[in-house]
Amino acid sequence: MKLQLITVCILIGILPIFAMSQLLLKTYERRATDQKISELAHNITIISNLLLSNGFFASAESPDINGILSEIAQVADIYEGRILIVDSGLAIRYDTYGLEEGKTLISEEAVQAVRGTNGKYLDRENQYVELTYPVINTDTKEVVGGIITSFSIVGIQDIYDNLQQAAVLMFLVLAILVCTCAILYGNFYLKPLKQMTSSFDRWSDGLMDEKIEFKGFKEMETISDSFNHMLSRLQKLEDSRQEFVSNVSHELKTPITSIKVLSDSLLSQEDVPNELYREFLVDITEEVERENKIITDLLSLVKMDKTAGEMNIASININELVEQILKRLQPIANKRSIELVFESFRPVMAEVDEVKLSLAINNLIENAIKYNFDEGWVHVSLNADHKFFYLKVADSGVGIPEDAQDSIFERFYRVDKARSRETGGTGLGLSITRNAILMHRGAIKVYSKEQEGTTFTVRIPLTYIA
Ligand code: ADP
Repeated sequence: MKLQLITVCILIGILPIFAMSQLLLKTYERRATDQKISELAHNITIISNLLLSNGFFASAESPDINGILSEIAQVADIYEGRILIVDSGLAIRYDTYGLEEGKTLISEEAVQAVRGTNGKYLDRENQYVELTYPVINTDTKEVVGGIITSFSIVGIQDIYDNLQQAAVLMFLVLAILVCTCAILYGNFYLKPLKQMTSSFDRWSDGLMDEKIEFKGFKEMETISDSFNHMLSRLQKLEDSRQEFVSNVSHELKTPITSIKVLSDSLLSQEDVPNELYREFLVDITEEVERENKIITDLLSLVKMDKTAGEMNIASININELVEQILKRLQPIANKRSIELVFESFRPVMAEVDEVKLSLAINNLIENAIKYNFDEGWVHVSLNADHKFFYLKVADSGVGIPEDAQDSIFERFYRVDKARSRETGGTGLGLSITRNAILMHRGAIKVYSKEQEGTTFTVRIPLTYIA
């Protein structure tokens, strides 16, 4: 990542500078050459006009001709070049070098010029520019001669080379600067990431209580906040797992301790009467049943904790399901003369896991009977709208104190331990119920007043959402 970061910085920082400097140099070279050519063209037009007005091509005896020729020589000097003047028959009438006068010039450019066309040829390699111009009589529109010039552009090239050297130097300095900045910046950025890695390592080595803190950037602080939030959730989960394990061990140990006490006391006595044996064995059987119930409830709870993939969804008639549960529980209610009433507002079909939902409803109605007064009542009602079905289990029982209402869904929580134990409660029933309802993407709420009664309301979607 460091290498990538540095490479990106270098690419972004250096390449554009390089491209820009090359572009500027090329533009300078083109503009300077163009300007020189246009200055030359201007001077040649003046020369051409002077030659025409003095009748240079008509006769060489004009009085001012020497003045004009020295002017032409001056122009050639200034521009470090050579100017040749030919007549329409390509005979060289004037050469600023004085070498070719009287000879005939046979070159493509000269032929073009006397035919009436301008010519321009740029030779970058040898650093010169050649310009050819026809001299046209403005009255007769006749080409009377041609001006052939060649000029050096070495000056431009020299400046270009100097600038190029300066650009390379500047480029190198900038490259070193950008590389240094990129390395420093890379290290600066990656420092918190290194810090993060070592914090994670320490955390996975077991220092779970340690808070993780990344300093440097706002984003890093946000990550560390989210991470600490996740850690504290993990810590809570770990705490609740440990608490659960210790609760399970305690709950499983209680019946076993009772069994041990009962059997020890039988064994320590000699000639124990048969009736006492029977009495103790009845107690021992009860404890075994209790142990069995705790294990069954624990297994149900574990099943409910599994993922939604474990759901066995089918379209079920909820009215029939509730009626079956009530039928099963009727004998327990009858024992204490508790009235069980079912009120159904409409037939309800819903996509549910029958086993899990039955367990949940069963626990609610069983609790309503267990924590009720003799000759009390339990009212169960079922209703639905287009999205959900609603189940209400109300009783005339002992109620739940307000401060305990938030805890009743916790595993092993019991309001009155002695009473719950008497009724065979394990403290797992409502956890199982809530988990089953949550697995159906439903909700459960409790309303209760001590000594007056309790109402549980359950809302479950009619169609299962995976
Ligand atoms: P238990 O196996 O002890 O019944 P639950 O998880 O089913 O465990 O219930 C937790 C506690 O909530 C119970 O111990 C009881 O004190 C209280 N409780 C549950 N349902 C009712 C109810 N209908 N009326 C009064 N108290 C209730």
